[in-house]
Amino acid sequence: MKTSLTVKNASYIIRYMNIKFQCCGIAILCVLCFFNFHRETVGFRGTRLYARAMAANFLCLVLDISSIACIVADGGSGTLISVIMGKLYLASLILVFYLGFSYTCNDIYALQHSKLTMPISTAFALLGCALVALLPIHFVQQGMSITYSYGPSVMATNIFAMIFILGTLLMTIIFRKKMNPRRMRAVQIWMTIEICAGLIQFMSPSLLLIGFATAIGMMILFMELENPEGELDRVANVFSANIMHDYIRQLYEDHIPFAGILIINATEWGVGRIQERAIFMEMANFLKAFPHCKVFRGTGNDFAVVLPQKFYSEQMVRSIYERFVLSWLGTEISTLIIAVPDNRVATTADEVTQFYQHYRSKMESSDERLVFFGQAEADKLRMAKIIQGEIVSALDEDRVEVFYQPIYSFEKNCFVSAEALCRIRKPDGSVMMPGVFIPVAEKTGLVEALGTRVLEKVCEMLREHPITEIGVEYIEVNLSVAQCENRWLTEDISQLIERFEVDPSLLNLEITETSTIRSRDMVIANMEKLTALGFSLSLDDFGTGESNLNYIVDMPVQIVKFDRSMTKDYFQNDKTKLVMNSVVEMIRNMGLHIVVEGIEEKQQLDAMAAIGVDYIQGYYFSKPPPLQEFLNFIHIKNLAVMKEA
Ligand code: C2E
Ligand code: MG
Ligand code: MG
Repeated sequence: MKTSLTVKNASYIIRYMNIKFQCCGIAILCVLCFFNFHRETVGFRGTRLYARAMAANFLCLVLDISSIACIVADGGSGTLISVIMGKLYLASLILVFYLGFSYTCNDIYALQHSKLTMPISTAFALLGCALVALLPIHFVQQGMSITYSYGPSVMATNIFAMIFILGTLLMTIIFRKKMNPRRMRAVQIWMTIEICAGLIQFMSPSLLLIGFATAIGMMILFMELENPEGELDRVANVFSANIMHDYIRQLYEDHIPFAGILIINATEWGVGRIQERAIFMEMANFLKAFPHCKVFRGTGNDFAVVLPQKFYSEQMVRSIYERFVLSWLGTEISTLIIAVPDNRVATTADEVTQFYQHYRSKMESSDERLVFFGQAEADKLRMAKIIQGEIVSALDEDRVEVFYQPIYSFEKNCFVSAEALCRIRKPDGSVMMPGVFIPVAEKTGLVEALGTRVLEKVCEMLREHPITEIGVEYIEVNLSVAQCENRWLTEDISQLIERFEVDPSLLNLEITETSTIRSRDMVIANMEKLTALGFSLSLDDFGTGESNLNYIVDMPVQIVKFDRSMTKDYFQNDKTKLVMNSVVEMIRNMGLHIVVEGIEEKQQLDAMAAIGVDYIQGYYFSKPPPLQEFLNFIHIKNLAVMKEA
């Protein structure tokens, strides 16, 4: 009985005081608060601003009701308490729209860096509040449902609120390309609702809709963006992959020191979908148990753990590593753990993502399982990125050049061939050496494009310069491991020589031991096809790897090239001298020829002549010069020999 009386009284008060809309607004905010605050969120600045706007909206509605209560109580006579409450309400209204504007600006990257936007808008909001406080306010109270305020103070509020609303809308239009499109749409809907509510209230002042409209706006933002569920991954209840970048970006912007641990899992787990989910959840639960950590899902089944730098410890990394080398629900999964103890190794979230993508892409092909990623590693990756850019632009802008190092024949006493060596001409005219760019090209897959370009340039040279007339029998061209492993290698090369109308006997293709070890069958098949087409082949880098003579026996090569490092050792180490002497003999017995690289002095040349190698390539004769210099060199040297003969 008592309860129904209370409800009746409450409904009478609501009707009598014209606070139906405000009560609905408060109810909406209560529901939103419930969902917003009892779940874990990653803690975005936008979420904090949203919570502030919601609190301001709540305050605004409470002040609205209080102000109406005061007006009803004094019958609209405008006692001091009514004036104070009325003005507090108006100021809170300006605060709500000011916070709506800040919330919108927060999402616009360009404005976060503007030092003026926020101070100006804050000053403007304060000015609005000051005017509200200073200007007069009047009240109307008629019967059961007509209660409102009017006068200059109210007019000032309307103007300031409208400027904030239009400013917010304008921001979403000007910076539409820099804003999250969902946020842009949600803010635009919210502001349109406010304008409609404002117009209705302007025409019918007793319909107090503004606070309610703001609560509706809050609800739209919540549903579109601020719903904490949206930040969570559905499978493992960790934070989702798509907010990780934004979160890290925010940490950088706010200069908060953090550490990170990336857990990069192999892509294929070899288990069914259900088992995969169960394992993933098991991993997530293990990681979530570490205190102070935010756990994100990365690409695929990867994880990223982000934590304040002061809580990072190597021991934590070790315990993660030790757990991940064990099996998960009976399945072994290979994992690469990257520990980043200090966020300063990168400067932006984009760079963090690039580093992550780098390790992600090489995870499957690398045996590394634990990396402590410090400044040195970051610098190396950054440099590789720059070099990658140089290679790409050199290919685009035709700045890939070929230098030719002459190769001397003891038998003919002249230069019978040359090795084509790739160079990149930088825009400033300087030359980048292959020792710098080939390793990067190999890692990034650009080496095939470079190899093709070198072959094209060599073929073009062969078409234009009849080198056999000056005693050069063929040009040696390096093939990368990737080229050797390419099943279309023979087709590609034969198309190329057809295009340039070059005789295959003018080309000697150098392959390395690495390629024959990595995918022996494919490489041998390619070599046999190339030999059948009329190309001759050399084995490059002999003496750097395993240098297994058994390999040479099986391979259709005509020339073995001794690496410079072995030549150097020959003159420094007696054991190498003995080994090399007998290796030379064995190779010669197999009917193959030998090129020795790295000969720089006369006595080295004489020593090589004495042990019976066939060809010499070294600085003693010439460093690799550009084409024209090479042709001049050969002209002078070979023609002199030819004349003598
Ligand atoms: P490589 O194929 O073994 O080439 C021989 C390297 O030894 C060349 O270095 C040459 O300049 C150097 N060299 C020869 N004689 C001497 C000497 O007496 N003293 C010294 N200090 N060096 C000597 P470069 O041109 O810097 O090339 C380095 C490597 O880069 C090459 O070793 C090859 O593995 C790779 N490379 C060069 N061009 C290409 C290319 O077009 N494709 C591929 N895949 N790799 C290439
Ligand atoms: Mg070579
Ligand atoms: Mg070599």
